[in-house]
Amino acid sequence: MKKKVVLTFPPKIVTQPITYHLVKDFDLIINILRAQVEEGETGRLVLEVEGPKEQVEKGLKYLEERGVGIQAVARDINLNEEECIVCGVCVSVCPTHALSLNKKWELLFDKEKCILCEVCVKACPARVIEVAF
Ligand code: SF4
Ligand code: SF4
Repeated sequence: MKKKVVLTFPPKIVTQPITYHLVKDFDLIINILRAQVEEGETGRLVLEVEGPKEQVEKGLKYLEERGVGIQAVARDINLNEEECIVCGVCVSVCPTHALSLNKKWELLFDKEKCILCEVCVKACPARVIEVAF
């Protein structure tokens, strides 16, 4: 099976080679799709894990036991720009600066930087950001 997940690493384990154990100990194939990892801060990885179902489940359980947060991944984040009131709330909460405001106070969304954490979805007061699965 193949599974895409968002992993959230608490600062104390962010620099540990935890995902390496998925390969070494659980014989899984991993593909890091997006990453935001900085020493001393919470890290996030969007990861695709591939292997026999049982091994995938064991590997993810191993991560959880080490304090890694695991979320099923959204396929995409969609922003309805026409209904956006440009309040800037999403900009202030986005951990990767995928959302920003330009000098004309227009909202810009750089999908390449988005790690699908969904923080903006919950924060948007106008409910114009949606998760697509
Ligand atoms: S889901 Fe939203 S808050 Fe999270 S990285 Fe993407 S744009 Fe930023
Ligand atoms: S939080 Fe929602 S309404 Fe506010 S700028 Fe972001 S997308 Fe637009």
